[in-house]
Amino acid sequence: MRKALLNDLAIFGGQVAFEERLYVGRPNIGNRKRLMERIDSILESRWLSNDGPLVTEFEQKVAKYVGVKHCIATCNATVALEILIRALDLQGEVIIPAFTFIATAHALEWQQITPVFCDIEPRQHLLDPSRVERAITSRTTGIIGVHLWGQICDVEALSDIANRHRLKLLFDAAHAFGSTYKNQHVGNFGSAEVFSFHATKFINTLEGGAVVTNDDELARKIRLMKNFGFTYWDEVSYVGTNGKMNEISAAMGLTSLESIQDFIAINYENYKRYTELLAPIPGIRMLQYDTGETNNYQYIVIEIDEEQTGISRDELLQVLWEDNVIARRYFHPGCHRMEPYLSKYPNAGSTLPVTEEKSKRVLVLPTGTTVCSEDITVICDIIAIALAHPKQLKERLRTTQPPFNRPVEVSVADAHKN
Ligand SMILES: *Cc1c(COP(=O)(O)O)cnc(C)c1O
Repeated sequence: MRKALLNDLAIFGGQVAFEERLYVGRPNIGNRKRLMERIDSILESRWLSNDGPLVTEFEQKVAKYVGVKHCIATCNATVALEILIRALDLQGEVIIPAFTFIATAHALEWQQITPVFCDIEPRQHLLDPSRVERAITSRTTGIIGVHLWGQICDVEALSDIANRHRLKLLFDAAHAFGSTYKNQHVGNFGSAEVFSFHATKFINTLEGGAVVTNDDELARKIRLMKNFGFTYWDEVSYVGTNGKMNEISAAMGLTSLESIQDFIAINYENYKRYTELLAPIPGIRMLQYDTGETNNYQYIVIEIDEEQTGISRDELLQVLWEDNVIARRYFHPGCHRMEPYLSKYPNAGSTLPVTEEKSKRVLVLPTGTTVCSEDITVICDIIAIALAHPKQLKERLRTTQPPFNRPVEVSVADAHKN
């Protein structure tokens, strides 16, 4: 149902645009029949985990797709990061962007390594190499770049810094499966890179991840570590954890991989439609992907410039939620404003001006295989109407509590009850 007038918006009493909520990161699901056949074969063979045939096949297919020597599949990307960080013997301080999913920071903190938050550059929201250089201290042992929104970090500049300062360089490539940089696939940069195959990611294995690397010795270590350090039936030669991927996850991954071109095509169509409809709206800037490279187009990222629009990102978000468009404020408020980092470094924000600004402006809109062109038209109608009436909207919102803001004082104990 198209919307045209202020009173068409749900927040002004209009009919809610979408009966079913539209989410960011609704899973892409490939050929269900193929998936069911694979799951059946797993149950038939009773080989459910521990380097089963499907995990092995998935690792080979990922490695081939990416053009990398080794792929080690894991239970998720966070554990993959933790294992990689240990395998590379990182200690002390490691530099990461503050504008990322919290797992990048937690993977370090979990192992008593200090994440040092660094600012991003404003155009692509990627780690700013000039600022990385300034964040290096005598305790720094590594840099983790994050290929945010599937765009690739400035690999050359970061490699150069890492080499000059003898630091390890790795990448959190959770968003970037399938993306290329100078026509080389992500997965070949730094010492190693980590993919996430979480349900919300472009290619999913329900839960899952992988470390990819061209380093034989590193790959061997990681294989041991993700399987308790077992080198033989009853022989353990290394400290390890349980980071294994299971067979059903691999079945999902293999099935998803077979549809990768379709997923990209749908995401690309959605991206073009959003670009076309949002371009004429003043005060909205949509992140544009580099068309000279392969992208997965998994994220539709907009920035709202309140000075121009007269309404804030959060106000627009509230309007969208009322119409069942569950857009998201990734990565609000920034890792440095989440615990335990906020208490440890309460003033970190002063060195992170771009992160601070972006975390107030950025909004991620629904896309993927469950979102169609008509949905996008309606979403953009809502945005256009809202931005055409900033005064009335502000007045209407003054007395309504946004559904996405929780009281600030939620203790850890309370959080566990939910
Ligand atoms: C999703 C994500 C992760 C964590 O991946 P999991 O597989 O859920 O553990 C890490 N970093 C970034 C940037 C992510 O988006």
